[in-house]
Amino acid sequence: MSSLNGDGATPQQPRIGVLALQGDFAEHIHMLSEIGITAVEVRKVQQLSEIDGLIIPGGESTTIVKLLGMFDFVDELRSQVESGMALWGTCAGMIVIARELADPYPTPLNLLDIRVARNYFGRQVDSFESELEIDGVEGDHMRAVFIRAPIVIDTGIGVEILARVPATDDRPEQAVAVKKGRVLATSFHPELTRDTRMHSLFVELAEEARSDSVRRSTEETRSIV
Ligand code: GLN
Repeated sequence: MSSLNGDGATPQQPRIGVLALQGDFAEHIHMLSEIGITAVEVRKVQQLSEIDGLIIPGGESTTIVKLLGMFDFVDELRSQVESGMALWGTCAGMIVIARELADPYPTPLNLLDIRVARNYFGRQVDSFESELEIDGVEGDHMRAVFIRAPIVIDTGIGVEILARVPATDDRPEQAVAVKKGRVLATSFHPELTRDTRMHSLFVELAEEARSDSVRRSTEETRSIV
């Protein structure tokens, strides 16, 4: 089956990249393949202009921030997000894209107006699972895996909270999935389950980004000819 549409020039699939400097990028690529998307591993800043959506995976946020700086990603990433590229940070990725952290390091990139606390759930419960109801995800609750997970402690104007982990005896409920425009952040790891619904949601955001950029370049071509 061809992935090209009528004019033979525009692939219909949104082009999705997964930042592959550190962390569990392979698992995201696998999940995307389960829903028919061939994603690329992003290791060079030049690749950002060739994709409609980027996932920053879980891993170690201090290391990811350091590597993004070393490989000169920061300005280009910001400029692509400002021009409408979809972005999804999972766990460490959420920390990386936050506006501000409750922790002294790393210095996040400020791509989404949220304040985040790292390792919120503490040492005793570094990892746990919870059933979440997520806005925009239809059907049953989603089983969410939390591994040394952050939480969102504050959201700026226009940031929607999509999911909260319920309160327990020890702690109040906490926001763990947020979205503004095409920028999505989750504290948990959908790539470590078999549930592809969060990945499908992200693909929709990348599709929007793709049709926007196709429309923009058509308009540009029309204004030239
Ligand atoms: N606690 C890690 C950090 O601060 C994130 C853990 C994860 O991505 N699973 O970077």
